[in-house]
Amino acid sequence: MVLSDQKPVSESPLVLQEIDEPKAAAGELRVKVNACAVCRTDIHIVEGDLDLHQKPLVPGHQIVGRIDEIGAGATQFRRGERIGIAWLRHVDGSCRFCRRQQENLCPNSRYTGYDTNGGYAEYAIVPQEFAYELPDDFDDEHVAPLLCGGLIGYRALEKAALPENGRLLLVGFGSSAHIITQVAVHRGHKVYVLTRSDNHIHRARELGAAWASSDFRDLPEKADSAILFAPSGRLVPPTLESLDRGGICSIAGIHLSDVPGLNYDRHLYQERQLRSVTANTREDARALLAEATAIKLQTHVTIYDLPDANRALQDMKESAVDGTPVLVI
Ligand SMILES: [Zn+2]
Ligand SMILES: [Zn+2]
Repeated sequence: MVLSDQKPVSESPLVLQEIDEPKAAAGELRVKVNACAVCRTDIHIVEGDLDLHQKPLVPGHQIVGRIDEIGAGATQFRRGERIGIAWLRHVDGSCRFCRRQQENLCPNSRYTGYDTNGGYAEYAIVPQEFAYELPDDFDDEHVAPLLCGGLIGYRALEKAALPENGRLLLVGFGSSAHIITQVAVHRGHKVYVLTRSDNHIHRARELGAAWASSDFRDLPEKADSAILFAPSGRLVPPTLESLDRGGICSIAGIHLSDVPGLNYDRHLYQERQLRSVTANTREDARALLAEATAIKLQTHVTIYDLPDANRALQDMKESAVDGTPVLVI
């Protein structure tokens, strides 16, 4: 499913097209794609909130498949092995950020389904250093949403630095929040969820949220930390206002509309903090996959056939999908 011109997902910008099979170059692996989960970032790429780095482009960066071709010198995996491919696919390994375990901030990073073709396709390529072994406990469709939705939420949860038995407020309840609610509840935190959708309120409660509603004013108490998943800057002030002293709000999106003016006393004083979360490190991915296995995390997915990718993006944008849309190839 190829993107040539950025436009609203309602105009079905992706086109089913035959393109040449990619070849694994030195150090790379090719997978025959089985599943690719849809991410909100795909919507930002398709609609033009993010500038295109390549045109035409095959989006998709939560890819599960089996290795069917191995490039010269790639010895870490075997043909037939199942691997995952995520958003981050290259860093220089030498800059000041890479050297201090912040490879997610590398200025020379490259991304799957953005700088190179991704997983809305039958085949995808990945450098072996950026391929992930996947736990057997998950099937292809259910592990795919961990590879970005899960990961960004996982990093946002770390950056939210909750105290023990903390109170966590999640603003927006899509794919990431589904996953991270389970991790946070399992770690002993109390989770509060704000979401507009009645379905999501219901789902949040099912997953162990102590409270879920559509209005900040109903929040039963202040939170120690918050994660903002909704890509809306106007939600930043009420989220900060919902934090207790010393609280941290981490923003889990790659794109956020403008944040309105903040009032120092209402929104920041008492050492409240606002921070962004940028991509993830490979270590984050391994840690999430291990913890997801240990706590028997459940992802909720809705399956779409590859040619229905536009519909998957539309449904995600309109919050008309339960859990994460996953394309099955
Ligand atoms: Zn670097
Ligand atoms: Zn993503």
